[in-house]
Amino acid sequence: MQIDWNRTIDEILSDKIACQRCGDLHDDAIVGYTRSPAAAEFAARCRDCQRKEDCNERKLVVVCDDCARVLRMRGRRVDQEGMMTTLMNECRRELEECLDYLADYWQEDLDVDPDNADLTFEEADPEAFAEEMTWRKRLEEEYLNLHRWFREHHKRVPDPGWRGEYVEEMLELGYETQLGS
Ligand SMILES: [Zn+2]
Ligand SMILES: [Zn+2]
Repeated sequence: MQIDWNRTIDEILSDKIACQRCGDLHDDAIVGYTRSPAAAEFAARCRDCQRKEDCNERKLVVVCDDCARVLRMRGRRVDQEGMMTTLMNECRRELEECLDYLADYWQEDLDVDPDNADLTFEEADPEAFAEEMTWRKRLEEEYLNLHRWFREHHKRVPDPGWRGEYVEEMLELGYETQLGS
């Protein structure tokens, strides 16, 4: 997931939520997942999507009532804080996937020969490794932006213990993280 920060800043200034599909500003919105290819045009998840016409990936979207009806999407009604909480939870989920991947999924994914058990991810496939590091960096930057939003609005960060756990696990795996040390 990548957030359009220009748009998000507009929303913060106006204390409203912009529908990702039609752009209208509202006090609340519907947030939910859809597999509809019609959502690939605007879903943050599909920014780099190669096959938008028939993408049936599960996409998190924030839309107005009318657009939710058009997409036949069931979701939850949220205000701005609820939306930011949902975005943060989604960002955390993706960071947890990074942790799992760095821990051992990469070996499965790259089909590493069990005889080469000492091989590190970076040695096994430097290109895939660099890609994973770039992706994680983007997610961590997004996390920090979300965190800043909660601070600036004097709102409680949901489940504040999550960050410490993430940092510990990342450091234990031998990787630096922008979320702490
Ligand atoms: Zn809309
Ligand atoms: Zn897609």
